[in-house]
Amino acid sequence: MTCVSVCVSDGRMSTTTTSVATSAASCVTITEGPDVGSTADEAALQLEENRKLKEARTCKVCMDGEVNIVFLPCGHFVCCAECSQHRQSCPSCCICISGTVKASVS
Ligand SMILES: [Zn+2]
Ligand SMILES: [Zn+2]
Repeated sequence: MTCVSVCVSDGRMSTTTTSVATSAASCVTITEGPDVGSTADEAALQLEENRKLKEARTCKVCMDGEVNIVFLPCGHFVCCAECSQHRQSCPSCCICISGTVKASVS
C-alpha cells in the first residue's frame, strides 16, 4: 500500500511518497468454490430468471401470445404474430412499421 501526500507551498508542488506495512495490507482472503448454503437462493434466482425470460417473450400488446415478430425498421421484438397483423406502429417506440420479420426462438 502506498500513501501519496501532495503539499503545495509557495506555489511549488512537492510530492511525498510513503510506503506503509506492505505485507499486512496485501493480506486478502478470497474464498472460492461451491457454497453449500446458497441452494435456496439459487433456486429463487433461477425462478426469477425464468420469470424475466417468460416476460421478455410475452407479447406486449395482448400479454398472452409468444413474441415472434421483429418490427422493421426499429428492430423491436415485442409482439406476437397475431397482434403484429393489426398494428401500423411499433408498440414499443411507436415508429411506423415498414415491415416485419418472423423470428423463431428455440
Ligand atoms: Zn399479441
Ligand atoms: Zn420499435
